[in-house]
Amino acid sequence: MIIYLNGAYVPKEEAKVSVFDHGLLYGDGVFEGIRAYSGRIFRLEEHLDRMYDSAKTIDLKVPISKEEMAEAIKETIRRNNLKDCYIRPIVTRGNGDLGLDPRKCPVPTVIVIAVEWGAMYGDLYEKGLTAITVSVRRNSADALPPNVKSLNYLNNILAKIEANYKGGDEAIFFDTNGYLAEGSGDNIYVIKNGVLFVPPTVNNLRGVTRLVVLELAVSLGFTVKEQNMGYFDLYTADEVFVTGTAAEVAPIVTIDGRSIGNGRPGPVTSQMMKAFTAVTDKEGTPVY
Ligand code: PMP
Repeated sequence: MIIYLNGAYVPKEEAKVSVFDHGLLYGDGVFEGIRAYSGRIFRLEEHLDRMYDSAKTIDLKVPISKEEMAEAIKETIRRNNLKDCYIRPIVTRGNGDLGLDPRKCPVPTVIVIAVEWGAMYGDLYEKGLTAITVSVRRNSADALPPNVKSLNYLNNILAKIEANYKGGDEAIFFDTNGYLAEGSGDNIYVIKNGVLFVPPTVNNLRGVTRLVVLELAVSLGFTVKEQNMGYFDLYTADEVFVTGTAAEVAPIVTIDGRSIGNGRPGPVTSQMMKAFTAVTDKEGTPVY
C-alpha cells in the first residue's frame, strides 16, 4: 500500500508521523472521507470544498491547493491500482511542542490514504439497521460545530460506544435542545406520509451524500422539508434512513426497540437507495 505523505508517495510501513504531531496530541486537524466507484471519484470537489472550509474554520492553512490535493488523491488511487475505494485525506496542524498553541506548529502534515472498500453494512441494506438513540449529545454548534469535519471525533465515538453496548448497529444523536441531529457518521432522514423530513445542518455535518439525496428526492417528486424534530417524530416515522459516504443510503428499521413502519426497509428508502446507486454508477471524476 502506498500512502501520500507531505508531497511523497511512500510505502505504508514508511508512512509515519511524529508523536509531537498535534493531530495525535489534540485531534487538531481536519479530514475527509471520499469514495471512488469504478475508478471515478464521487463528488471530489464538494469534499475538497468542505475540507478546506473545515480547515479555514479552525484557522489551519492547508499548505497545498485544492488542485494539488485532488492530484495527490488521484495519484494515490493510481499508485494503489484501485477502482472502488475509500479515500481519506487528512491535514493536521503538524509538529509542535506539548502545549496546545497552534503557533508552535509551523508546518501542517498532509496525508492521503486510499483503501479498497465495498458496502459498509453488508446484508443490512436489505434487512435494515437497528439504531439506538444515545444519551451523549451532539457537540453544539457554539462549541465545536459539527460542520467542521475535524480529527476530534470523540463525540461520535462516545455515541458509537453507547450504541455498541446497547446492541445497535448505529447511534442516533440528539442535540442539547433535544432536536434530532444525525448518526455517529451519517445524516438522518424521517419519512412521514410521503414527505421527507431532514434536520437543518446546524447540529450535524452538511453531508455531501445528503445534498445528492435531497436533490434526488426532489427530482423524484418528493416534498422535502428541513425541520427540527424530536424523538416523537423518530419513533412515529413511516421510514427512517441514514446517508453518508461510507454508509451510502442505509435503512433503519428499529429504534430503541420500536419498529419503524412495518419493521422492514420502506418503499421511499428503497427508491432512494436505487436512485443513489444510479448516480454513483455513472458520475464522478475519472482517475485513470
Ligand atoms: N455526519 C457525520 C458525523 C459524518 O462523519 C459523516 C461522514 N462524513 C456524515 C454525516 C455524512 O457526510 P458525507 O455524506 O459527506 O459522507
